[in-house]
Amino acid sequence: MQTEEKTSQVLKYTYKDINAAMDSIRVMFDMVRLVDVEECREVSITLDGELNFGRECYAIWASDHRCANCTSYQSCQTRTKKSRIEHFEGKCFQVQSVPVELTLKDMTTYSCNMELITITEDDHYDKETDKDVWETSGYITTHDSLTGILNWEGFCKNARKLISDEPDENFLIISADIDNFRYVNSLFGNTKGNEVLVGVARIFTELFDKKCAIGRTGGVNFAICTTNESDIASILKNIAEKVSGLISSPSFRLSIHFGIYDVDNSNLPISIMFDRSYMALEAIRNNQQMIYNYFDENMMQKAIHEQQIINDFKKNLRSGQFVIYLQPQVNKNHYIEGAECLVRWVLPSGELLPPFEFIGILEQVGLIGKLDEYVWELAARQLSEWKGTEYESLYLSVNVSPRDFYYLDIAKIFPALCKKYDIMTDKLHIEITETAVADETSGNMATLKKLHDEGFIVEIDDFGKGSSSLGLLKDIQADVLKIDMQFLQKSENEKRSFVILQSVIEMAKKLDMEIITEGVETVGQLDFLKNLGCSMFQGFYFSRPIPVAAFEKIIKDGFENL
Ligand code: C2E
Ligand code: MG
Ligand code: MG
Repeated sequence: MQTEEKTSQVLKYTYKDINAAMDSIRVMFDMVRLVDVEECREVSITLDGELNFGRECYAIWASDHRCANCTSYQSCQTRTKKSRIEHFEGKCFQVQSVPVELTLKDMTTYSCNMELITITEDDHYDKETDKDVWETSGYITTHDSLTGILNWEGFCKNARKLISDEPDENFLIISADIDNFRYVNSLFGNTKGNEVLVGVARIFTELFDKKCAIGRTGGVNFAICTTNESDIASILKNIAEKVSGLISSPSFRLSIHFGIYDVDNSNLPISIMFDRSYMALEAIRNNQQMIYNYFDENMMQKAIHEQQIINDFKKNLRSGQFVIYLQPQVNKNHYIEGAECLVRWVLPSGELLPPFEFIGILEQVGLIGKLDEYVWELAARQLSEWKGTEYESLYLSVNVSPRDFYYLDIAKIFPALCKKYDIMTDKLHIEITETAVADETSGNMATLKKLHDEGFIVEIDDFGKGSSSLGLLKDIQADVLKIDMQFLQKSENEKRSFVILQSVIEMAKKLDMEIITEGVETVGQLDFLKNLGCSMFQGFYFSRPIPVAAFEKIIKDGFENL
């Protein structure tokens, strides 16, 4: 018997204030405790801010009764944070369960539940029913139905038991991800996909024959807790080879990556150990030369730094810390026709944070759209402020991250901005990169065509920086090709890159596309590009990206050094 009550409120404490807070709450309840829901354990915070794991049970009573007598077994195992009523030996335990987020000493956050418990007399307890729940659901709730190995809950419990039972042993937590698994399903069908997952689980089980816990923690992700063997590298290589043998196709090779956390602090929750191993895996996910990677503290520092950026971004997006800098786009007569808007984060200290410090992070966590929408709005507002002034003829060009196509309705946002600020669509140029349109099935090409048809100028940014596809140019409705100077610098064979650049320029012209070369730093480069037929330029030779007021000054007074 359970009462289910939604508890959406999350209490936030630091490791310093949690114990005092619990003491004050304790006055109102018979018991107050923290529980790690994933590991089915009580947890407390020491004065030094360390996590201390207690009884290995989510139930309230004596540890020798454990789950067999726990009516909340289901909610505990499914990690749903539910309040409930438990009955035990003539007592009724009313448990209110509140999610808690703790900030630990190293600034990481740890999620657990605070349980507020009231104990009253009770005589409705039906022992038999509870026994049935345990017996029928025990296996199901700790094992993965497809592969038969442990699931996340089962893994956490088993790994914790292994580590606690052998305090002197050195354990590893290993996470494993199968690469590009979505192609397995689409190329070979779901049945084959399932076969592969079962096969991977079997390979793990065969090759880790020592004391270990093996689980499928979700999708194509597996976790292993094992003792630290000297030949772990060869075991992992062996696994990788066997895994690639699960599919024999000349066009597709199945590969796997591992991340390893060498357990140096057995008091950490298993979920945090797993996160560390996963951080190590993430760092080599796209690296075909490495199949495994060890977690180290630098990764932790990096993760903390990234989290800090995300928190600060969320707090400060609209507080004036994000501004646009403008970099002139200049024609062959050195006349400025417009500018690219490049975002800068002005920290309270006055320091300027360049985009590479935060754009990638925001892209990863799906927040880039919020920044870009804000930047586009700043650009549109600027254009409207310039109306009726000597800057009226200028256009502004904004960057669109490939991710924006997923999160934002670009086809609506840009026209809406032009309407709101009463500006012509051709004043707002839209810079996209090839990756946004590389996958033709995504519908992004159609979005761009719609914008192009409405008069927006679409520019393909950074052409030549990545793996450019000439074929793409014929399909995409773009008006401008922005070629990066790196196109030339990257090659050791100048003659060859010259020929390629010449062909790209010719082709763009035939396709009626204008060319802007960016990254122009010297007069030599400028002359060279002019000779090749380029007519628009952007680069440090003319100006670095500068604040709006400085840009306006250049329009009035001309370039200082040229
Ligand atoms: P991008 O769009 O290709 O912008 C051009 C970058 O090249 C700018 O770097 C600019 O400062 C730099 N640059 C310009 N001329 C020269 C030159 O002569 N030599 C060299 N070495 N570099 C030059 P920045 O401002 O650091 O921006 C880097 C990238 O960050 C941008 O590349 C763009 O991809 C991204 N970015 C900037 N602002 C935004 C934004 O608001 N949204 C999104 N999604 N991305 C942005
Ligand atoms: Mg750009
Ligand atoms: Mg660029």
